[in-house]
Amino acid sequence: MSIYHDEVEIEDMEYDKDTETFFYPCPCGDKFEITMEDLENGEEVARCPSCSLLVKVIYDK
Ligand SMILES: [Zn+2]
Repeated sequence: MSIYHDEVEIEDMEYDKDTETFFYPCPCGDKFEITMEDLENGEEVARCPSCSLLVKVIYDK
């Protein structure tokens, strides 16, 4: 009963230092993404640019 495809610990995500973005593989073949800035703003939903799936990011400051 969740709108999220999955919940992902931030530690399990891949971090790109250049773009300050966290990535996590999406079943569609693309990747969910969320930026460090989003997280600092309280955003906790990573989106896949290629499909409509969402994952909730478990993040502890
Ligand atoms: Zn996708």
